[in-house]
Amino acid sequence: MNVKSNIMDASTWSPPRRTIFVDGEKRVEKYPGMRHRHMVDPQGNMCRVPIVTAASIVVPDNYANQIMAVKLGQGWFPVDTCPLALMLSGQLMSESLDGTVRDGKPCEPGSYDIRKGCRHVHAEVAVRRGRHGVVEAERAERYKAQGEKDAEQRERHHQELLRAMTQGTKGKDKDAK
Ligand SMILES: [Zn+2]
Repeated sequence: MNVKSNIMDASTWSPPRRTIFVDGEKRVEKYPGMRHRHMVDPQGNMCRVPIVTAASIVVPDNYANQIMAVKLGQGWFPVDTCPLALMLSGQLMSESLDGTVRDGKPCEPGSYDIRKGCRHVHAEVAVRRGRHGVVEAERAERYKAQGEKDAEQRERHHQELLRAMTQGTKGKDKDAK
């Protein structure tokens, strides 16, 4: 894995900027620092991944590169990148992306950002969530089946207990006579 990835190279990193309007006036503001990266996890959730080891560090260092390399290796990818471009540059394994997402051309840099993820981000998130939804439904089904089994077991136990108590009472009655 190429640790010195171009998506998080500390030497060329500069804070992202945003345009805001103050009293109708347009201003460009730098974000205070980047302490985490918004990433998509294998289940299709948007997650904030901390990339600095201390709050005092505002510029990502080598640790950030290592974290990114590990996460990319596990199939995570930043929301503000084109995952297909990452795959084609060898930073993301091809198995990490669905076949339907792997087909086609990577997006032009600048055509997407953190607010407006590229179409491959949207497609991959949908696939992952769908896949995860199926897994979750199966798990819920298994839990339900187990719950029913447990209920049956409890009912059987309850009946046995009742029987034992009834017999016990009968026995006592006999003794009393
Ligand atoms: Zn894309």
